[in-house]
Amino acid sequence: MVEPRFRTAKRRKKKSPTGLIVRIYKRDKEAARKCALCDAKLHGVPRDKRKLSKTEKRPERVFGGVLCAKCVQTIIKDKTRLENGYMEEKDVPVKRLKFLKQLK
Ligand SMILES: [Zn+2]
Repeated sequence: MVEPRFRTAKRRKKKSPTGLIVRIYKRDKEAARKCALCDAKLHGVPRDKRKLSKTEKRPERVFGGVLCAKCVQTIIKDKTRLENGYMEEKDVPVKRLKFLKQLK
């Protein structure tokens, strides 16, 4: 029986150095990361990051690897508008408020 972890893996046949034909199992790729607010595909986040360094795994930005650049921009705008009194907390959508409170 095939090992359970290989059941869904893609299989390839390959000739080994001794001439035998061996079955090779390919590792599944991770799904592409999406923005937590707008579901856009995130840039700068590789799908296979096993051998990468920490800084290569996600952008070095606030909420890098979680939110897209556009959503981070709107959150920073909301933050300054709140601080300067041009907006109230009730005017911000609940989804965005969660990230706004995490921002220092
Ligand atoms: Zn977004």
